[in-house]
Amino acid sequence: MNNHQKSTFHPLGDFLNPALALLGQGLIKSPIWQKLNFANHPYLCKGLIILMLFPLSVSANNCVVLLYHHFSDTTPKSTSISPKLFEQHLQYLQDNDFQVLKLNTMLERLDNDNLPNKCVVLTADDAYQSIAKNAYPLLKKYQMSMSVFVPTEAIDKKYKAMMSWQQMRDIQGETMQFYNHGTDHSHFLDLDASQIQTQIQQAQKRLNQKLGKRHKILAYPYGEASLTILEQVKKMGYTAFGQHSGVISKASHQQNLPRFPMAAHYAKMPSFKTKVNTLPMPIKAKITHPIFTQNPPTLTLEFSKSLNKHQKANLNCFANGGVTMVWQGSQSVTITAKKPLTHRRSKYNCTLPSKQKGRYHWHSIQWINPNIKE
Ligand SMILES: [Zn+2]
Repeated sequence: MNNHQKSTFHPLGDFLNPALALLGQGLIKSPIWQKLNFANHPYLCKGLIILMLFPLSVSANNCVVLLYHHFSDTTPKSTSISPKLFEQHLQYLQDNDFQVLKLNTMLERLDNDNLPNKCVVLTADDAYQSIAKNAYPLLKKYQMSMSVFVPTEAIDKKYKAMMSWQQMRDIQGETMQFYNHGTDHSHFLDLDASQIQTQIQQAQKRLNQKLGKRHKILAYPYGEASLTILEQVKKMGYTAFGQHSGVISKASHQQNLPRFPMAAHYAKMPSFKTKVNTLPMPIKAKITHPIFTQNPPTLTLEFSKSLNKHQKANLNCFANGGVTMVWQGSQSVTITAKKPLTHRRSKYNCTLPSKQKGRYHWHSIQWINPNIKE
């Protein structure tokens, strides 16, 4: 089922890149370097040496994708961020040299093992008015881009809360791109395979007609998908995003890519800073079925290397009401919530401090109980 069997975790990755960068800077500033007479040694070219040195410090090839909805002080808090706080996000990204990539650029560069070290992608679901009104001007100001997932029927029906096709045409380009979110925002788990196919194909057709041809990139409404749906979407040629938090790497399932939700208290600066600085959890690529049969369900994490006593003690996992963690040796742990899950969607989140100060490895799963209707 999983199309990425290989794990990209590198045990040296945590300190290799900063160490090489320091080494490079130190060398250039050193008296030996300064004394080298390059005119007499045409073969000894600073640029060449830099080129030889720095490919070693290529990034770990991962990226954090953020998920927003409303940019407003008056919309529901659970899915909103104030424009003022959103500007603080952009300011932080700018001040700290993050590269905010366009979504399709990030996916291409992920494929080519060519992502920058501090990689962030901004996305928003549902094409609300406040995107055009409040997010777009700020993105322009900071010269950053955002991809928006559009439920096309809501636009066709001219819902007041949503942008119009004309508004989207006006702002699309370098700053704003639009992608597939199905037609009517149904829970895909409540639909059969042919209905899901119609949702995706119709939405894509509508976007292509109204805004021009685009890449096959999808966000599941509510982030809900089963393993069967992931397989169907893969066969249809789409890359797809969920709503569980985590960092994208080559080990991520291409039809179940994570995004960090940014709303309410999750959007506040301390949480935002943690999220954008997050690293992938060093686990073997393995997809867990999000639809559970036992309640509470058990998540098994298999690490790509042995964890020492200190690391094991510092692995933290969270669920409503707490979790029980049971280690099998030093590479495998099971995580089970202490109480049965009572919502349609529930999450387990796990963090592990990395060797870089203040940076955490992160892994999350969204469990779904389709029998609970919304
Ligand atoms: Zn949505």
